[in-house]
Amino acid sequence: MARIVAVANQKGGVAKTTTVHCLGAALTERGLRVLLVDLDPQACLTFSAGIDPDALEVSLHDVLVGRSDAASVLVEASGMSLLPATIDLAGAEVHLLTRPGREHALARALAPLLDDFDMVLIDCPPSLGVLTINGLTAAQGVLIPLQCETLSHRGVGQLLETIGDVRAFTNPSLAVEGVVATMFDPRTRLANQTLASVGEAYGLEVLQPPIPKSVRVAEAPGRGVSVLTSAPHSPPAEAYRALAARWDPHP
Ligand code: ADP
Ligand code: MG
Repeated sequence: MARIVAVANQKGGVAKTTTVHCLGAALTERGLRVLLVDLDPQACLTFSAGIDPDALEVSLHDVLVGRSDAASVLVEASGMSLLPATIDLAGAEVHLLTRPGREHALARALAPLLDDFDMVLIDCPPSLGVLTINGLTAAQGVLIPLQCETLSHRGVGQLLETIGDVRAFTNPSLAVEGVVATMFDPRTRLANQTLASVGEAYGLEVLQPPIPKSVRVAEAPGRGVSVLTSAPHSPPAEAYRALAARWDPHP
């Protein structure tokens, strides 16, 4: 039975998509069967995994509106399975709003797949709308990436409120896995301060290690792979491997 972790932060550009892709690659290296879910209509995870969303006939959108089952939409990407997004997913958001049980559409769609995977990683869009709520409702845990250089932790309170609502209404056992510091530059005092203050202010565990900032990470998606493949021994690749170890049931 797969463990399901959603990677969420309503702020864009904090490395949600990168974190999903890299953790998936790291867990695949460890021999786990990984399913990635692209819940963002911008389809960046799908692109990063080397798949052209425009060439897809079906996507997660068809699953969420009840036209396809998830198994028939899966594609393969670097040894992982992916439920891909297309821009149509923006329409799923509108469709779901008119439906009872709308928060549970993704959880229901994933249920038949869970025996085939060890880990499901959900890449949430940069909003706290119905798609993100679906991700949080389907997940057992939520991982919050934070970019420490900017004051990107200003939205953390709002995200925690949404997590509280999800616990109250749709998924009482949702756990916060913790915060992961992304694009981390240990030389800047601001980065270290931000990290420490977020952990304290919100009572969140700051997971180790932080992911160092590196141009290697940004270059990888253009090649349809993660930095674990394009620069396997780079510091960010090693950091994502170390972070991923916490979800390996057989270390
Ligand atoms: P989000 O999904 O939160 O919007 P992305 O994962 O798309 O964020 O990352 C935003 C940008 O930052 C992308 O261009 C990505 O390649 C880059 N990026 C992510 N992590 C790093 C890192 N450790 N070092 C340098 N650039 C990074
Ligand atoms: Mg993204």
